[in-house]
Amino acid sequence: MTAVLIAPERTRLSLLSAPTLATLPDAVGENVHRVRAATDARIMAVVKADGYGHGAVTVARAAVDAGAEWLGVTDVAEAVALRDAGLAVPILSWLNPAGVDAAEAAAHRVDIAVGSVEELRDLIADAGAPVRVHLHLDTGMSRGGSPFEEWPELLRVARQGRGRIEVVGVMGHLPRADEGDPRANAAAVLRMRQARDAVLREGFGPLLVHLAATSGALTDPATHFGMVRIGAGLVGIDPSETETLDGAGRFTASVVHSAAVPAGTPVGYGGTYVTASATHLSVVGVGYADGIPRDLAAGASVEICGARHPLVGRVSMDQIVVDTGAAQFPRGTAVTVFGPEGGAVPSVQEWARWAGTIPHTIVTGIGTRVQRSIA
Ligand SMILES: *Cc1c(COP(=O)(O)O)cnc(C)c1O
Repeated sequence: MTAVLIAPERTRLSLLSAPTLATLPDAVGENVHRVRAATDARIMAVVKADGYGHGAVTVARAAVDAGAEWLGVTDVAEAVALRDAGLAVPILSWLNPAGVDAAEAAAHRVDIAVGSVEELRDLIADAGAPVRVHLHLDTGMSRGGSPFEEWPELLRVARQGRGRIEVVGVMGHLPRADEGDPRANAAAVLRMRQARDAVLREGFGPLLVHLAATSGALTDPATHFGMVRIGAGLVGIDPSETETLDGAGRFTASVVHSAAVPAGTPVGYGGTYVTASATHLSVVGVGYADGIPRDLAAGASVEICGARHPLVGRVSMDQIVVDTGAAQFPRGTAVTVFGPEGGAVPSVQEWARWAGTIPHTIVTGIGTRVQRSIA
């Protein structure tokens, strides 16, 4: 009889589901519809910071499919990536930290926001084919944009640059719109009107004027002008906390190890948590490198099999430990960190509260080794 070599069984590790952020295009679309119901203005879908962590192309496609007319990013490279993915609507880039390649901007039909006389001069000097420009007014943030006092000089330079640049828009940004109180926006709105009128008097136009982001769009029609720029709102975050939008991401992982432990068992680095009674622990394969905040208030939890279970001990780089009480979950059990379902599934907003931060930092903090998918 011939000996038969039997290959060792393949490792089952591959069956564990890797940490994944699934983006829900339907939720993005629904959020665009909600903004549409709140304004007559055009909608720019802002997909900077990789679409607030949810995938710039995925979020952009979903928003455009739902009727968003424009896309917004912070540099030309991000805009080119959207063009390469087939997105054809107008795109504005407004920070350009690495400077602007005028030829690339013109070739890919990317509009450029210009927030100082110097930036405008540089752009005019570099421009071959005309570059479409939005003049960026500082409406009270001292964080980019040209103060109204510099507006005459900006317009003088813009006039000289005619032919190399084309002024098509004026933008500002609201410093206090998340207060949800129109009185907090009044000064910025007035400045915006004055700046717009000054540009029109110089003979530029027609102009697309835009000031509001998600909060302004949802709470103060006086801020809408010709377009609203929606970023956080696309993925379900309303910074004014006046609307409940649809969460657009589901962050899942799996149990990588589980154990029954007696009372008095220290958990994690430093033994900062010690079990009060016999219980079960599940180790979940996500940590602060994946975007789990390290400093969390009591109550921070994940969902496993329809119930919430609290994180215990310190968050590690690659793992968290969850106290599952009487339940013991086998390795491979699915865990939801956050998602739109409600009930036992935590929301991004809850994670922000547990971490003492805003929801934006939770979604933009999700690490690169978390796989992205489309749900
Ligand atoms: C990020 C950003 C937006 C979008 O703001 P949200 O509050 O996320 O909607 C709009 N405009 C500018 C200039 C931004 O930087």
